[in-house]
Amino acid sequence: MVQVNQDRVLFDRARAVIPGGVSSPVRAFGSVGGTPLFIAEATGPYVVDANGDTFVDLVCSWGPALLGHAHPEVVAAVRDAAGRGLSFGAPTAAEVELAEAIRARVPVAEQVRFVSTGTEATMTAVRLARGATGRDVIVKFAGCYHGHSDALLAAAGSGVATQGLPGSAGVTAAAAADTVVVAYNDLAAVERVFAQQGDRIAAVITEAAPANMGVVPPAPGFNAALRDIASRHGALLILDEVLTGFRVGPGGWLGLEGGYAPDIVTFGKVVGGGMPLAALGGRAELMQLLAPVGPVYQAGTLSGNPLATAAGLATLHLADDAVYGLVDRRSLELQAAVGEALRRESVPHVIQSAGSLFSVFFRDGDVGDYEAAKAQDQTAFGRFFHAMLQEGVALPPSAFEAWFLSAAHDDRAMERVYAALPLAARAVAS
Ligand code: PLP
Repeated sequence: MVQVNQDRVLFDRARAVIPGGVSSPVRAFGSVGGTPLFIAEATGPYVVDANGDTFVDLVCSWGPALLGHAHPEVVAAVRDAAGRGLSFGAPTAAEVELAEAIRARVPVAEQVRFVSTGTEATMTAVRLARGATGRDVIVKFAGCYHGHSDALLAAAGSGVATQGLPGSAGVTAAAAADTVVVAYNDLAAVERVFAQQGDRIAAVITEAAPANMGVVPPAPGFNAALRDIASRHGALLILDEVLTGFRVGPGGWLGLEGGYAPDIVTFGKVVGGGMPLAALGGRAELMQLLAPVGPVYQAGTLSGNPLATAAGLATLHLADDAVYGLVDRRSLELQAAVGEALRRESVPHVIQSAGSLFSVFFRDGDVGDYEAAKAQDQTAFGRFFHAMLQEGVALPPSAFEAWFLSAAHDDRAMERVYAALPLAARAVAS
């Protein structure tokens, strides 16, 4: 009897009622082809699709699942919170505790405002910077992704890169006019932009360590130099740690790198432990410009949602040095194994990392910016991706995304990944 592929059945149904069949573009497998997995459940390092097939998951919900899926203590905290009510539209003790937990780990976040998505966090950070400086212009870097607010979609990474788009239809010329896009890691270009219009620039926003054009770490001193340039011109530095925050270490990328202080830091993903929660933090006097204290308006019906704060708190408490040490070690082991498999088949590649985040570019030579990231063999990635999937390993379905590990990726899960690598490397070579 021919087995019906339930993922395909669901994808067909989904496309009839949901644009592209997905709630977020990269999930559609558009750049690698084929049918997305429709996930029925996930535990530890594994996801199970609608066919009941189990895959080792190297997507980890695109970052949040630092502890693995459905960690019993996180699930218990959410269940517990749910029993006391789903949403109040009023302040809670758990929000205070989570804000304190964030400040303890990232001291520049003296005060914290909770929102529901990373997009809201960066959008609010931009508004706050404009409100604080009375200036309009935002400097961002090509290939950096900060969510899908109008001002930040220009030359964005992640799904915008995956689909090869310059930006988005529906963004007005006026909204884009105040965004200046500069090549990543190009300090001379940043200096030039500031020399030309420094008195109009409200902020420079950068991913703490970019991971949405593949992983392209900042050149040593790059972020500190941005701090310096912004300060000289009275502009703010917004450090986007939505992806890196609480993932590459308890203090995020800032904790690993140190030596400079951004004005505003944005968080998302791990801080919500898999629930919709994100945040921005900064110096108290700056954060006090937000409503209700100050004139910069920002609000949200579900902001600081009790289930989300419960998941975030449980996750941050569980994310101790042992967790980060394990994820770091797994990452190094996996990078070495991928490199060896590709070398054996003489496949051109470069592996780049930022803390435990890493990605594989199918090209020769280091990648320092978005132009170099785009100059990779995306069809090779597609072949690699599908060979891994065939062997039961789910990679992010895009050459422009980081690979994610968790503390739940045990020896058994990793053995399955290692067993798949030679076959995937051969699929690229052939
Ligand atoms: N900033 C960065 C660095 C991100 O990686 C993302 C999402 O991938 C965002 C912002 C947007 O977050 P969200 O998808 O929660 O809106």
